[in-house]
Amino acid sequence: MSNGESQAGSKRLIRETIQSRGFFPSDLAAHLSPAEVMQPNDFSERVWTRLRVEECGDPVIRLNDSKKLITHSMYWDQRREGIEPILVGTDRIEGALERIYVRKKLADVLEKAASLLPDEYQLLVLDGFRPEQVQRNIFEKLQTLLGDEVFKYVSPPDQFASHATGAAVDLTILQSGKPVDMGGKVDEMGKRAHLHCFEGAKDPVDISIRDWRRYLQWLLKTPAILNDNYSDVVGIPTETWHLELVDTQVGAFTQNRSVARYGNASKNGLLPADMH
Ligand SMILES: [Zn+2]
Repeated sequence: MSNGESQAGSKRLIRETIQSRGFFPSDLAAHLSPAEVMQPNDFSERVWTRLRVEECGDPVIRLNDSKKLITHSMYWDQRREGIEPILVGTDRIEGALERIYVRKKLADVLEKAASLLPDEYQLLVLDGFRPEQVQRNIFEKLQTLLGDEVFKYVSPPDQFASHATGAAVDLTILQSGKPVDMGGKVDEMGKRAHLHCFEGAKDPVDISIRDWRRYLQWLLKTPAILNDNYSDVVGIPTETWHLELVDTQVGAFTQNRSVARYGNASKNGLLPADMH
């Protein structure tokens, strides 16, 4: 099957499933093509940082909680279940924001995706726009833990980071208020954090983890699919909890585009005045 046929088949399956009985996680993810949630590109050289950015000007806004969308700023308070604390022994990363802020377009995607979840499920959003000071603190801490491996997971403070656009998000899914088993906590770095890590699963627990990972990726693509676009967001190979808009540098890189539309939100003056 070609990639185009596979995409068309997945879109049809999502539409039919939502129309008939809602977007249930269990039996849907297993039938979706895993190839489409994985980015084949090589991320190790960070070549996307060379892509030109023509800032689109979409403003950064505060992401409000709703019945289906819960926010918890993980660098403000690392104690929530499902989070791997980066600074052990400290609850807060210096410079962290109390609230979650994202670009307006990403807020729309998150709200629509959350509304598609069945009754007992919610989206839990843990990070969006990230101030430079927080990026630096996270990088330095992880560098002492991981050595050079850190470059696979976190942008160095002197380079441009996806979260500085406000168009990237870290999130997971709650079932009855608790994070579902995604095979690790958010920010738990290493092979298990890789998006494809459970794709060869045989054991029922591992198959369930694989399906949750696929489901999270597909859930965020679904608002675009229902509007007859293919995708608003892309995942990345090394962190199963991270997605970003297709028009960031990383997103544009995965789509083989030559120009990105989401640049540094702070430097472009797109942050709200009352941010805290
Ligand atoms: Zn992230």
